[in-house]
Amino acid sequence: MSRRFLTALEQEKTLVLDGAMGTMLLQHDLDGIECLEFANLTAPAVVAHIHQAYVSAGAELVETNTFGANPVRLARFGLADQALEINRQGVVIAREAVGEQALVLGAIGPLGELLEPYGDISPQTARAAFTLQAEAFAQAGADACIVKTMADLTEACLAVEAAVACGLPVIAQMSYEASGRTFMGVDPLQAASRLAEAGACVIGANCSVGPEQMLTVIKTLREHTPLPISALPNAGLPTVTGTVTQWPLKPTEFAQWGLQLLGAGASLIGGCCGTTPEHIGALAKALRSQNG
Ligand SMILES: [Zn+2]
Repeated sequence: MSRRFLTALEQEKTLVLDGAMGTMLLQHDLDGIECLEFANLTAPAVVAHIHQAYVSAGAELVETNTFGANPVRLARFGLADQALEINRQGVVIAREAVGEQALVLGAIGPLGELLEPYGDISPQTARAAFTLQAEAFAQAGADACIVKTMADLTEACLAVEAAVACGLPVIAQMSYEASGRTFMGVDPLQAASRLAEAGACVIGANCSVGPEQMLTVIKTLREHTPLPISALPNAGLPTVTGTVTQWPLKPTEFAQWGLQLLGAGASLIGGCCGTTPEHIGALAKALRSQNG
């Protein structure tokens, strides 16, 4: 399975990833479930529908609905004992939804609690949590793993190493704020070298900011790593009015920024919070026209 992803990396000039899962799921009635990843067991058709919408729009890689499905985070919802099944189902749903039209990336997000010495999570606990996810992805036949939205470089490296140990190629993304650093103070230069050492085969950035603010980070990464670079920005910087969050970038604007990210050196491009199949559709069209 993993060879398909590496072959795609070698063959394609650019690869289109999907957009947001979380903000899309929140638009559906999920019977009040608080843990979005639990939808893999309770509402698989809704998750499958979102994957299909992204592939129809032009996504070549889709990410499983397993971002927060590590046992540390699931424990908050009393779901830690279902972690294996939630992760396995995440891959099964995506695979059945997209068939041969797209590759499936098992998604790993942060544990949601800080590692020692800043918090209580030991490296052993973190490693075990990420290994559970990665083993489930590998067993269920994911093409690769995407480690994303990381702020702590040690945590990110533990996740990358866990996935590499399961035989999965890994895209490793930190989440850089407008300052150009993650909220734990990591800069792209440090990330590029340590994530590559940990075994990542693509280095990138996602979430926190829109494409405009991400551009500098991508340029810095391009200067400091020979590896392919991924960029999955939000649909701009959101405005929050009461309980309503609005994302400013329209699909056509997002697509124009996608071309700038391509020019800055990213070759795997998709979206994060606030992006929709319409954003990915416009992006795919713009990138394809560029490839001539
Ligand atoms: Zn996001």
